Amino acid sequence: MAANQSNTRIVLAERPANRPVRESDFAVETVSVPEPGEGEVLLRALWLSLDPYMRGRMSAARSYAKSVEIGAVMTGETVSEVIASRAAGFKPGDIVLAQSGWQQYAVLPAAEAQRIEPGDMPLSYFLGVLGMPGLTAYSALLGVGQPKPGETVLISAASGAVGQLAGQIAKIKGCRVIGTAGAADKLAYVRDELGFDVVVNYKGKDHTALAAELAALAPDGIHVFYDNVGGAVHDAVMANLALHARVIIVGTIAIYDRLETPDTGIRWNRQLMVKRARMEGFLVWDWRHQTEEFRREVSAWLRSGKVRYREDIVDGIAAAPRAFMGLLAGENRGKMLVRVAADAR
Ligand code: NDP
Repeated sequence: MAANQSNTRIVLAERPANRPVRESDFAVETVSVPEPGEGEVLLRALWLSLDPYMRGRMSAARSYAKSVEIGAVMTGETVSEVIASRAAGFKPGDIVLAQSGWQQYAVLPAAEAQRIEPGDMPLSYFLGVLGMPGLTAYSALLGVGQPKPGETVLISAASGAVGQLAGQIAKIKGCRVIGTAGAADKLAYVRDELGFDVVVNYKGKDHTALAAELAALAPDGIHVFYDNVGGAVHDAVMANLALHARVIIVGTIAIYDRLETPDTGIRWNRQLMVKRARMEGFLVWDWRHQTEEFRREVSAWLRSGKVRYREDIVDGIAAAPRAFMGLLAGENRGKMLVRVAADAR
């Protein structure tokens, strides 16, 4: 066991209020590896997922989950290996998903570790295309958006962890898919490798210019708007809704640096009335019951090549803060992950 080993972890040092995240908002600490108590497991992190929601947890603004306390380990999901267990049902070598945070080792109550059977799928996929972001893509699109063949679906942040899968599922369902992103290579990837029909670069354009561009690309309007970003892209798409459109509010990354102040952009209530459209907020936790069905279906699509998937990997827990800042700035190319253990496969 890892009794004499040290645990490197990243804690929250300062809250970024109404400003972008800085590296000094985090501190790297080295502590000793804890021992599991009765009913607990000691985990060694193999992979850590970096996700935009973590920006919200750094903020004191009220949300759907508690903020990380100053001095506490940054929150995050890992694929981990059980290295010691004092809980029935878990043994060393078991592979689990756990909210064990930005650190190499963690002790958790066994009830908080969820065993996975990866089969032929890479372990890292359980934090991405077969994990929380994948379920977000699947359930928000199919459960809330309910796209029909021939409809036009617009996905914002199209090349990211959620967007890349949401767009490919919309294609599988027979839709015409428009993707937005902020870099030419990301757009080329979603169009040429993932099969999106149309791509739009939103960078450097205000909502009026974007709205005019979308009007020309989707003259019959957008039936399903899968919004990962908010901001100017949101406003532009709202101006182009089709009759009976469905708008799914999945993420608002464009305003994550000002969560403390209310967003006072254009008010679209009238557009919802004019188009008899429906807007619905989505939270992945509400759709956990679909996990098994989603994993089965997406695994089959991955095996058959109907769905492709890209990851962006950095090595070592100390690389997490910088990679996270890059994710918020759009530097990631696909699902952002930290390979915490050098031997993670
Ligand atoms: P991504 O892998 O898509 O990475 C985030 C991307 O957001 C960046 O690469 C960047 O791409 C884009 N972005 C950053 N700033 C802006 C901006 N100002 N305007 C427009 N786009 C911007 O992340 P995920 O796929 O993991 O997450 C996508 C969204 O889904 C996030 O908002 C996240 O919070 C949300 N989400 C919500 C869940 C829920 O239950 N509601 C669950 C999971 C995710 P670009 O180059 O295109 O700018």
